Amino acid sequence: MSFADLHLHTHFSDGTFSPEEVVARGQRVGFAALALTDHDTVEGCSRMAIACAEANIEFITGAELTAEHAGNEIHILGYFLDQHNQRLLTELARFQSVRQNRIREMVARLNELAIPLQAEEVFALANCQSPGRPHVARALVQAGHCASHDEAFERFLKKNRPAWVPKAKMSALDAVELIHQAGGLAVMAHPGLNRTDEIIPDLVAAGLDGIECFHTKHSTSASERYLMIADKHKLLVTGGSDCHGKSKGKPLIGTIKLPYTHVEKMHAARQKRLAAN
Ligand SMILES: [Zn+2]
Ligand SMILES: [Zn+2]
Repeated sequence: MSFADLHLHTHFSDGTFSPEEVVARGQRVGFAALALTDHDTVEGCSRMAIACAEANIEFITGAELTAEHAGNEIHILGYFLDQHNQRLLTELARFQSVRQNRIREMVARLNELAIPLQAEEVFALANCQSPGRPHVARALVQAGHCASHDEAFERFLKKNRPAWVPKAKMSALDAVELIHQAGGLAVMAHPGLNRTDEIIPDLVAAGLDGIECFHTKHSTSASERYLMIADKHKLLVTGGSDCHGKSKGKPLIGTIKLPYTHVEKMHAARQKRLAAN
C-alpha cells in the first residue's frame, strides 16, 4: 500500500528543514506523495518539486493560509495551486507584509519589557518571506533571554501574554475562493485543534473541498468524527503530520500515513474543478 503526507513545513515558513531534507526524510519513510504547505507562501515549492522528482515521489504544490470565520481562527490548506497565479501571489505578499509588521509590533512590546531584541535580528534568523512567532521565540533563545522555545511562548508570545499581538487574517470564505481561482482544492486543516465544527457547513456552502481528518494532534476519536463529517458533506479526506522539522521537538514526518487512495480522489476532484472553470 502506498501513502502520502500532505502537511509539511520547511524553513520557507516556520519549519527548520530545507525542502531537500523534508524529501530525504519522506523518502526514508517510503512516501509515494508529499505536499508542501508552508504558512502563507509557496516559495519553497519549486525546490521541493525538484527534490521530489529526483526521489521519484509525487509532489503536490500547497500552502496553509491563516484565516478566520465568525471570530474563529482556522487554517485552510490549498492543494494543486498554480504557484504563478498572480492574484494568489499578490494576496500572499500582502499577508507576508502583515506578518512582518506583526513581528515589529511584538519586538516593540518586548522592548517595553526591557528585552533588547531587534526586529532585524528576527528577520535575519527567519531568512524567509513568511516569518512568525516561532522565529521570535528562536531569537529570544539565541540571545539568551529565554531557555527554550516553550518558555518564550509561555512568558511572552502565547495569546494574551505581554508580547502577543493579534494577527490580521483573511476571511475563510475569501481563502477558499482565492485557492479555487488559483486552480487549487481548499481543505480545512486540523479541525480537531480549532474546535469550530459549527462553521463547517458555512465553509462547505462556500465550496470547501475537504477536511484534514488525519493529523498528528488528532486523537483516534477525533479522526473518526471528522471522517463522519467528511462523509456527511461529501468532502475529500486528507491527512498530514504538520512536521515543522526540529522547531517543535521531534520531527513528525512519518507519524501520519494517508492511504494514497485519498490522493487519487483529490486528483479526480481537481479535474472536475478545472473542467468547471
Ligand atoms: Zn495549522
Ligand atoms: Zn501546518
